[in-house]
Amino acid sequence: MSLAPLRASVDRLFDLTVCLRPFRAAGPRLTVERLGDVLVAHNYGHGGSGWSLSWGSSAIAVQNAMSASPSAVAVVGCGALGLTSALLAQRAGAKVTIYARELLPQTRSARATGSWTPDSRIALQSAAGPGFAAMWEQMARTSFKTYRNYLGLPGAPVEWLDRYVLSDVSRDDPTYRRQPSDPLGFAEYHDRISDITSKPELMPQGSTPFDAPFVYRSSSMMFNIADYGHTLLTDFLTAGGKIIQTEFHEPSDLTRLAEKVVINCPGYGARALWRDESIVPVRGQIGWLIPQPEVRYGLFYQDVSILPRRDGIVVQAVEGGDMKGYGNDNETPDREESERAVRTIANVYARFGGRSALHAGSET
Ligand SMILES: Cc1cc2nc3c(=O)[nH]c(=O)nc-3n(C[C@H](O)[C@H](O)[C@H](O)COP(=O)(O)OP(=O)(O)OC[C@H]3O[C@@H](n4cnc5c(N)ncnc54)[C@H](O)[C@@H]3O)c2cc1C
Repeated sequence: MSLAPLRASVDRLFDLTVCLRPFRAAGPRLTVERLGDVLVAHNYGHGGSGWSLSWGSSAIAVQNAMSASPSAVAVVGCGALGLTSALLAQRAGAKVTIYARELLPQTRSARATGSWTPDSRIALQSAAGPGFAAMWEQMARTSFKTYRNYLGLPGAPVEWLDRYVLSDVSRDDPTYRRQPSDPLGFAEYHDRISDITSKPELMPQGSTPFDAPFVYRSSSMMFNIADYGHTLLTDFLTAGGKIIQTEFHEPSDLTRLAEKVVINCPGYGARALWRDESIVPVRGQIGWLIPQPEVRYGLFYQDVSILPRRDGIVVQAVEGGDMKGYGNDNETPDREESERAVRTIANVYARFGGRSALHAGSET
């Protein structure tokens, strides 16, 4: 099998970006609230799953908003949730205006990885209500189906990608990708959608250029956020949507809008705007390697994840699992973290197509 090698060298790191996942232990806030004569349908707090769940979550928020049969709807926010809410509200027949402090590509959503990760840091097992798992499944399936409409388009806003996991031990071994300690108990729901998730396949020895004892391949959907975000924004404007760049300081600011129905998608911004301290920041950093259009596969090796987006190759250090970055709201990039991750991946390509073993700590 022929796979192009990644040019994993720190001098190809052309950008570092940091973003905060808006995590809520109980899962996203999708309730409805009245502020004077304004109906507010909340749609925020999607942790590490905001892009993946966006269509399904926004479908619920739009249904809540449209229960008042408004002819005009305001959407607060222009990230993954704001844009999908705005498009769905338009499709439901409303005239829609987005009000936001930042627009894509300045929003935090633009700094996400772009993987289909619908249960990444979405809730804590202990805090999610009894109906949440079923609602999550509905959101995941609705999103998955909607993403189908963005496949095969020019610019590849959404595409399928093979991913390889390199390991020293078999998946049957209890130490396989051992989860680091998870004292909080993050909820995991992926088994509920195993019918739409590709199963990792063990590749026969020597069938790939990777020199590792065990190589697993699976396929999953990815979002080229630069193009996909642009597509969403263009679709919204083409359908007559309006955007007003503004900042709200208090929930009561919304009562001054012309629209009497608001879909509220401020992401992590809800912590300040709604004084919602149930939102916890989970810091995540991406190192960007110069794009290589010929590299069309993802890779996971020794707690480093690689995703070849069209606008750059995403390199992420993910040691520490779901707890990595938990409670950390520092959005300053840490160059050393990304350089370390690139150097780890460089070890893979030093042996690409070669024979020596990739045993951790016993490199020859
Ligand atoms: C490193 C990293 C990688 C990730 N990777 C993935 C992934 O691969 N797949 C996935 O599904 N998810 C991923 N996520 C999670 C995902 O990015 C978030 O869940 C998602 O971006 C949240 O979107 P949002 O629209 O709620 O918020 P945002 O993108 O933050 O948008 C909020 C909007 O509200 C506006 N706003 C906020 N406050 C105010 C205010 N007071 N007044 C006016 N406007 C305001 C902002 O300007 C912005 O327009 C990742 C997150 C991180 C940090």
